[in-house]
Amino acid sequence: MTTATARSRPSAQLLTLDDARARMLDGLAALPAETVPLDDALARVLAEPIESRLTLPPWDNSAMDGFAVRAADVLGATPDHPIRLTVVGESAAGRSSAAEVTQGTAIRILTGAPLPDGADAVVPVEDTDAPMGAAALPESVLIESPRPPGAHIRRVGSDLREGYPLLAAGTHLSPAALAVAAAGGHPQLSVHRAPRIAILATGDELGPVGATLAPDQIPDSNSVGLAAQGRESGADVRLLGIASDNLADVIDRLRVGLAWADVVVVSGGVSVGAHDVVKDAFDAVGQVDLWRVAVQPGKPLAFGRAHAQGREGEVLMFGLPGNPVSSFVTFELFVRPVLRRLAGHSDVIGRDSVLATLAEPVTKSPGRRAFLRVRLERGTDGAWVASLAGGQDSHVLSALAAANGLAIVSEDDDSLPTGAQVEVIRLR
Ligand code: AMP
Ligand code: MG
Repeated sequence: MTTATARSRPSAQLLTLDDARARMLDGLAALPAETVPLDDALARVLAEPIESRLTLPPWDNSAMDGFAVRAADVLGATPDHPIRLTVVGESAAGRSSAAEVTQGTAIRILTGAPLPDGADAVVPVEDTDAPMGAAALPESVLIESPRPPGAHIRRVGSDLREGYPLLAAGTHLSPAALAVAAAGGHPQLSVHRAPRIAILATGDELGPVGATLAPDQIPDSNSVGLAAQGRESGADVRLLGIASDNLADVIDRLRVGLAWADVVVVSGGVSVGAHDVVKDAFDAVGQVDLWRVAVQPGKPLAFGRAHAQGREGEVLMFGLPGNPVSSFVTFELFVRPVLRRLAGHSDVIGRDSVLATLAEPVTKSPGRRAFLRVRLERGTDGAWVASLAGGQDSHVLSALAAANGLAIVSEDDDSLPTGAQVEVIRLR
C-alpha cells in the first residue's frame, strides 16, 4: 500500500479497546527464564516452582523471653502463692543449652531459642519475679501464673517444611516472597527475563529536557513519562532519542531499537497529518496496522511487528499519539499489558479498580470509552468519590499529574451526572 493511499483511506474500522488489546496479546508468551540472585528478583515473575530446602523453625522454640518449665510444675501458681523453681541454665537464640528441665527446675529462655528437653511450656518473664533483661542468671525464679502445655512454644515446621511447595510458578516476587525464598534456602531464583522496551520521541518541535529551547520548541516530556511507565511495568528501558519528522531519521532510530528491544514505542507522528511518518517507518521495517481505537484519549494508534534485527524473534512496535495524556493512557491500556505478559504475569492489567461516585457532571465523545483523569478520595461515609483532576484535553499533563485514577465512562454514555457511579482504575 502506498503512503498516499494509506493517508487518503485510513482504516475505517473503529476497534473496541478489548479487540485491540486482544490482537496485541495474541500469541504472546512469557519471555524465557533466567537465574538471578534474590537481590535482582524483586517484582519479577517466578518461572519455575520452588520447594523449601529447609524446615523452619528447625526445632520447637520459644515465642517469648521467659522460663522454660514443665507445665505440671506450675499448675497452681498465683501472684499470692507463686511457685519457686531452680534455674539450671539458659537457652538463647544461637546459643542453646544442653541442660534439661526436670521436676522443680526451669531454664531461662530467649525468643527463638530451642526449647530444652523436658520442658513443655514457656512462662513469660513478666509473669515471674525475675527482672526483665537481667544479665546474671538468677538461682531460682518465682512463677506467678500457670501455663498449659504448649504455651508460647513455636513448633518445629510450623512455618516451612523441607520438600514442601514454597512458591508456585507465576508468583509475582514481592518483598515477602523474596524473604520466604531466602528462609527456604534459595539464594537465587529462576525468573522470566524482564522485557526490554525502547522509546522514541518524534517531532520537529521537541528538544531534550533541560536544553535551551528555541522559541518554537517544547521539551520532550513523553520520553521521560513513557520510560517511567516502562520501568513501573517491570521492563528494562532504552531511550532512542528524538527523531525529527523525517522518515529516514525515524527508520534509523527504529532499527537501533529493533536490535535490542522486545517492544519499541514511538510517540507522536501517528495521525494522518502531512508530517506523520511513523506508520511508513513501521511499514519499512515490518508489518503495521493503523488503527482507530474507540478510546478517549488516544484514538489513532499504530501497531506492528518486525523481525528482531540480528536476533531471534519478533519485536512489537507501538505508535502512540503524541499528546502527552494520550501517550500515557494508551501506554497504560495497551503497552503495559503486553509488557506484563512478556514478564510472565497472568494478570496482564495489574491494577486495582474501585467504584466511585462522581462529584461533578462529566461529558465525553460519543462512541468511545473515556478514561478521565480524576482524583479519588474517601467521602465522609468512607465511600470513594471521584472529581476531575483538571482539564480533560489530551495535552493537559498537569491534570494527569494531579490525578490518582482513571475513571472509565462507557462508549454508550455521552455524559454522566453528579452522583453517577463509575469504575476508577487506581494509578497509585
Ligand atoms: P503528534 O501526535 O505528533 O501530532 O503530536 C500531538 C501533540 O503532542 C503535539 O502538540 C506535539 O507537540 C505533542 N507531542 C508530541 N510528542 C511529544 C513529546 N515527546 N513530548 C511532549 N509533547 C509531544
Ligand atoms: Mg508530531
